[in-house]
Amino acid sequence: MRLLIMGPPGAGKGTQAVLIKEEYQIPHISTGEMFREAIGNNTCLGIKAKDYIDKGELVPDDVTNELVKERLKHEDTKGGFLLDGYPRTLNQAFALDIILSEFGIFLDAVINVYVPSSIIIDRIVGRRVCPSCGAGYHIKTLKPKVSGICDACGHKLIQREDDTEEIVVNRLRVYEERTKPLLEFYNQKGLLINIDGNGDIIDIFKRIKHTLGGMNDNV
Ligand code: AMP
Repeated sequence: MRLLIMGPPGAGKGTQAVLIKEEYQIPHISTGEMFREAIGNNTCLGIKAKDYIDKGELVPDDVTNELVKERLKHEDTKGGFLLDGYPRTLNQAFALDIILSEFGIFLDAVINVYVPSSIIIDRIVGRRVCPSCGAGYHIKTLKPKVSGICDACGHKLIQREDDTEEIVVNRLRVYEERTKPLLEFYNQKGLLINIDGNGDIIDIFKRIKHTLGGMNDNV
């Protein structure tokens, strides 16, 4: 399956993406993760992206489109993929259409995880991640067994630098202005699936599976 997962920052896209990746055995391609990795490795891409990410702004479209195009050339995407955090602007959506048509493939569905904006800030500011294995936690709702330590690999948890309240407010503004219009774009193509992102992680995943159920015999 070739899927996109969308939603405002803090909607729980990343958490659901990990479950979808395992269930459907497709690579999870997160542009945010790719940028963070590039920043960690101090590559040219990382240096270009850092200033934008630190402010909660979007990395320019041309840089992001090229990154995704190169990633989609990898062999592991032949059986499908889940794009997370891309596209984020209409120009990126147009670019993705061109990339997919060049590769002779098309999207099966666009999953939009929605949550009321009132709970988003709490969700993001309390979020902690494991920089080693990528597992996600929350200081109130999804605590690790030992405070500050990853259950899965024992690494020390961190707060993403762009998960502070000030930057989150900007990320939400950017989402409303630049990314939300994409929902109508994909709705008109008949690809949009709206999923209520409130409640238990597994229940939300069941909603996604149920909706995708009719699309793939393996589901
Ligand atoms: P995320 O991990 O998806 O929340 O992304 C973290 C940050 O990476 C965003 O706030 C942007 O600065 C940058 N970023 C991720 N994906 C994109 C994209 N498709 N276009 C532009 N910037 C992006």
